[in-house]
This record gives sequence, structure tokens and C-alpha cells, in this order.
Amino acid sequence: MKAINEMKMNFLSRSCNESFARSAVAAFTAVLDPTVEEISDIKTAVSEAVTNCIVHGYKDGIGTVYIHVKIFEGNRISINVKDKGCGIADVKKAMEPLFTTCDTGERAGLGFSIMDSFMDKLKVRSKPGKGTSVTLEKIIVSKGK
Ligand code: ATP
Ligand code: MG
Repeated sequence: MKAINEMKMNFLSRSCNESFARSAVAAFTAVLDPTVEEISDIKTAVSEAVTNCIVHGYKDGIGTVYIHVKIFEGNRISINVKDKGCGIADVKKAMEPLFTTCDTGERAGLGFSIMDSFMDKLKVRSKPGKGTSVTLEKIIVSKGK
């Protein structure tokens, strides 16, 4: 299916860019008139995906985070967040609630669970040494005020 609108952005994996990224995606989707709750869901999911690129994908340095947002007929939004970092050896395991490779106690292992519950669809593709691609989908059902 062909997108009726789309937007691409790239930025360095610096943590200061995380809030910019979630706000930029939310602003782009505003044309669909989402409710405050729907905007908040999108921002939260994008924030989790981008944070993962920064803290896990590029844990050994700074790389580029790629975001591609598409809007389809029927108010469907697809958001792809990608890095060319270390990748994930076992995606199924990584997506289990409370699974984390962080051993400092700073992370809860809930990022993927949050993305899954705040969006309608979550697809994760990854190759060790090549990078990770996360696609988030949501249908905007309510008209915002
Ligand atoms: P939290 O998100 O609660 O702070 P977390 O980041 O460890 O903790 P998830 O976001 O669910 O939890 O991710 C689970 C695990 O998947 C991570 O600990 C990490 O090992 C791996 N992972 C997730 N995203 C990436 C990525 N972009 N590149 C490499 N590994 C990743
Ligand atoms: Mg996370």
C-alpha cells in the first residue's frame, strides 16, 4: 500500500536528541488530529525505540538513528526506528517483559513491552553486527479536541 504522506529524519545517537525525535514524530502525525492520549502513546513508544538505539545499539560509541514515518489511508501510522549498531542475537528473548542485558540495575527490561502495549503493532528485525529495525504501527481512531 502506498503512503499518502511520509517523513524521514536522521540524527546522531546523542541522548539529548531523544526528546527532539519524539516531538518531531508527534508533530508530523498531528495532521490526523490525534487525542492527547494518542499523541502521548506515540511519543512514549518512539522514545523507548530511540533510547534503545542510543543505549544498546550504539553502546560503544555514537552512530546514526534513522526514523521513517508513513501515513496511510484509514488514519494508519507506521513509524520505523533503525540503527546500524550491534544488533540483537535473540529478538524473541529480548522482547520478553523484564529481559534486559543491562547489569547495572538502571534498566527495567520493559521498553519493548511498553512499545507493544502503547501501539497496535510492533515488529522487530535485527542482525548481530548489522543493526536493529523496529516498526511501530497505530491507527488513530479518535478525533482530538
Ligand atoms: P528499559 O527499556 O526498560 O529501560 P531495556 O532497554 O533493557 O530496559 P527493552 O527496551 O525491552 O529493555 O530491550 C530489551 C533488550 O533488548 C535490551 O536490554 C537490549 O539487550 C536489547 N535491545 C533492544 N533494542 C536494541 C537495539 N536497538 N540494539 C541492540 N540491542 C537492543
Ligand atoms: Mg529499552
